[in-house]
Amino acid sequence: MAGPPGRDDLTRWRDELRGNWATMTPNLERVLRCRAGDERADAMLPWVRAFGATMASLVEPAVAEVERNRWLPASAPYDGVGTATAHVAFHPDHLLAGRAVWASGLVAAAAGLPGPGGAPGVAGLPSGGAGHVPAGVAPGGHGLFEAAALFYLLSHAGEGGHACPAVCTVGLARALAHRGSGDLRDRYLPKLLDTDYDRAWRGSQFLTEVQGGSDVGANTTVAEPDPDRPGAYRLTGEKWFCSVADAQVFAVTARPAGAGPGTAGLGCFLVPRTVDGSAPNGFRIRRLKDKLGTRALASAEIDFDGALGWPIGPVDDGFHVAVGELLNTSRWMNALGSTGIMRRAVLEATAFARHRQAFGSPIGAFPIVREQLAVMKAEEEAALSSTMLLTGLVERIDADDATDEERAVHRFLVNANKYVTSIAATDVVHRGIEVLGGNGTIEDFSPMPRLYRDAIVFESWEGTHNVLCAQVRRDCARLGLIGPVAALARRELARAGEAAGADGAAVRDAVARAEHRIAADVGEARSPGAAAAGAGHFRRNLDLVTRALQAASLLAEAAAAGSAAVADEKSAVAALIVRRHLVPGHDPQDDPEWPALVERSLAGSAG
Ligand SMILES: Cc1cc2nc3c(=O)[nH]c(=O)nc-3n(C[C@H](O)[C@H](O)[C@H](O)COP(=O)(O)OP(=O)(O)OC[C@H]3O[C@@H](n4cnc5c(N)ncnc54)[C@H](O)[C@@H]3O)c2cc1C
Repeated sequence: MAGPPGRDDLTRWRDELRGNWATMTPNLERVLRCRAGDERADAMLPWVRAFGATMASLVEPAVAEVERNRWLPASAPYDGVGTATAHVAFHPDHLLAGRAVWASGLVAAAAGLPGPGGAPGVAGLPSGGAGHVPAGVAPGGHGLFEAAALFYLLSHAGEGGHACPAVCTVGLARALAHRGSGDLRDRYLPKLLDTDYDRAWRGSQFLTEVQGGSDVGANTTVAEPDPDRPGAYRLTGEKWFCSVADAQVFAVTARPAGAGPGTAGLGCFLVPRTVDGSAPNGFRIRRLKDKLGTRALASAEIDFDGALGWPIGPVDDGFHVAVGELLNTSRWMNALGSTGIMRRAVLEATAFARHRQAFGSPIGAFPIVREQLAVMKAEEEAALSSTMLLTGLVERIDADDATDEERAVHRFLVNANKYVTSIAATDVVHRGIEVLGGNGTIEDFSPMPRLYRDAIVFESWEGTHNVLCAQVRRDCARLGLIGPVAALARRELARAGEAAGADGAAVRDAVARAEHRIAADVGEARSPGAAAAGAGHFRRNLDLVTRALQAASLLAEAAAAGSAAVADEKSAVAALIVRRHLVPGHDPQDDPEWPALVERSLAGSAG
C-alpha cells in the first residue's frame, strides 16, 4: 500500500541527499580551479570526491547515530582496580567515523606535511619548495587547498566529534614543524601525522582558564624547571576548557616561574598524556562539560599537578607560538568549518524545498522561500570565497613565498574571516531551519538542530567576535594592515574587469569608505575620546571591509568562470552580497533587479 503523499516527498528528499557531497557542490570545484589552478584541481579532485562519498555514506550516518542516541564521550577516571587512567570512552560509531576521517590524509595535508611514508591521499600531491619544513620530517609543504576542500566536506557533518580533534592535531603538528626542537619533532610529528586512526596520536590545545579565555595573559598555570631533566618543566594549574581531552599530546600555555605578567611571559608547552605509557602525566580530568553543541567532542576541565612538559620554541615566546601556530590554524579552519556547515544547510533546505508540497506546489516555488534559499547560498559562497583566498595566503606563507603585503593581509583576514563566517553560519542554518518548518527543529528529521548548535559554538571558540575585532583593530593601528587589504580587494576587482559593472563600483566605494574610516580610527591624530568610540564602530567597519573583500573575490571568480551560465550565477551571488552588506540603506523593494538576482543566483541549484 502506498504511503501518504507527504511521506513519499520526504523520502525523495532524503534519497536525493544520499549521494556524493563533493559532486553535489560544483561550486567547490570552480573555486578550487580559480584559486589553486586547473592542474592542481585536476590532481586533487578524485581525492576530494572520494571523501565526499565517504562523508555522505559513512561519516555522517555514524555521527548522526552518536548524536541521536546521545552516545556522547564519557569520563572513566579509574580502571576496575582503582588505578587512575583519565580515560575518555567513545562509542564504536564515533571510532568508525574517526577512522575514515583520518584515512583521508586530511591532517597531514593541512599541516603542510606528508604523512610518514606518504599518506594515501597525500602521496599524489605536487611537492612545493617549502623552505620551512625541517629536515628529517619530509619535503613538501603544499596541500592546504586539498586539506581545505576535505575539511569543508567534513564540516558538512558539523563538528561531529572529529573536526576539532583534526584541527588541534594540525595546529600542534604545525607548531612542532615550525617552532619545535628537532627532538620534539622526531618524537611526536610522525605520530601526529599518521593516517591510521587507531595508531595515530591526536593533539589538543589548552589555553583557557576559569578566569577567562579571551584574556590569555591572565593565565595562572605555572611551569617550574624540572631539576632532574634539563630543558623540561613541571606544570601546575587548572585549565577550564580542554577539548580533545582524550588527546595523546597537549599544548598547554603556562607561566614559567619568575616570568612577568601578561602574555609576554607565557610559555607554550608540549605535555604528553602519559610518560610511562599508561599513567596520566600529572593531570586529572575533573569532568567533561555538558555542552550546547559539539557534543560528540570531549571537552573537559583539567587539573595539572606537576605534569612533565617541554617548551615549543623558546620558553618566553610561548604566546607567539600559541597565536601564530595554534590559534591562526584554528581560526583558518574554523572558517572552513563554518562554511561547510552552511553548505550542508543549503543542500538540505534546497532539496527540501524541491520536494515539500504546500498549497498544491513545492514550497521552493514560493518567491519568499526562494529568496531565503538565495540568501543562504550567497552567504555560503561568499564564505567559501574569502576562506579559499585565505587558504592561498596560508600556503604561500608556509612555502616562504609570501610578500610582506600578503603577510599583512593574512594577519587581518585570519581573524576577520573567522568572525564574519561564524556569524553567517548561525544565520544560514537558522534560515534553513525555517525552510524545513517545524520539522527543522526535530533532532532525527534532519541535521539542522545539530548544525545550529555547533555553529553557535564555532562563534565563540578560537576567539569571540569582540576579541577578534579588538585584535584586528590593534593590528591595523600597529601594522597598517588596512592599506594592503584594500589593495587586495582592488586587485580582485581588477581581475573581475568591466563585467563587474555597478556591483564592482559599489564594492570599490565600500572599500574606500572602510579604508578611510579605519585609517581615521586608528590614526595617530585621534583623541582618546574618539578612540573609545572607534572601538564600537570598528566592528561595523570590519564587517564592511571583509564583506567588500568577499564581494570582490566573488566577482573575480565570476570572471574566471568557464561558462557564461556559471559566470552569470556567480555574478548574481556577488550582487546579493553587495546589496545586503555594502550598499547603504539598500531595500530590496526599491531594487527592481532584486527578484531577477534571486532567480539568477539559484539558476544551478533550486529548480
Ligand atoms: C565547546 C567549547 C570548547 C572549547 N575548547 C577549548 C579548548 O580546547 N582550549 C581552550 O583553550 N579553550 C577552549 N574553549 C574556550 C574558548 O576559547 C573561550 O570560551 C573563548 O576564548 C572565550 O573565553 P571565555 O568563554 O572565557 O569568555 P570571556 O573571555 O569571559 O568573554 C566574555 C565576553 O566578553 C567579551 N570580551 C572579552 N574581552 C573583551 C574586550 N577586550 N572587548 C570587548 N569585549 C570583550 C567577549 O567577546 C565575550 O563576549 C572552548 C570553548 C567552548 C565553548
